[in-house]
Amino acid sequence: MKPVAKRATPAAIAVLRQATALFPKRAKASDGLLPSAAHITQSPNSDHNTGFAVDLTHDPARGIDCADLYEKLKEDKRVKYLIFKGQIWIPGRGDKPYTGSNPHNKHLHISIKDNSGNDTSPWFPWIAKPKSTVTSQARLVASKIKPLPKKKEKK
Ligand SMILES: [Zn+2]
Repeated sequence: MKPVAKRATPAAIAVLRQATALFPKRAKASDGLLPSAAHITQSPNSDHNTGFAVDLTHDPARGIDCADLYEKLKEDKRVKYLIFKGQIWIPGRGDKPYTGSNPHNKHLHISIKDNSGNDTSPWFPWIAKPKSTVTSQARLVASKIKPLPKKKEKK
């Protein structure tokens, strides 16, 4: 049994923080970093115990589509393995059926490699930061405003 860390690695914390920064209204019900006592008993060798794993809640309506992330994060060199909807992906081994007790239908599990715990570079680099609605509306309005006719100066 691995000793349980006191805090999650910066890389794991960054997944949740960056997801929230991009999609502030996303659901967080299945988010997770460190394990509960029950989880430790059930999964004594989980990467959650060392802080090298993170669970991200599946909420496609509000921007976090874990089916999509599962595919895109295969490109990220920090990933040790991914689990979502009954599938596990391991670099070099591809997708396999996941047979653990929790099929991971409500969250994406990301395990992080031992050498990547402090790497907080963007986890979702293909998602552009949301544009300020105020700015884009202001531009739209500005483009429709005709210049005011010059007033004739009264003498
Ligand atoms: Zn997990």
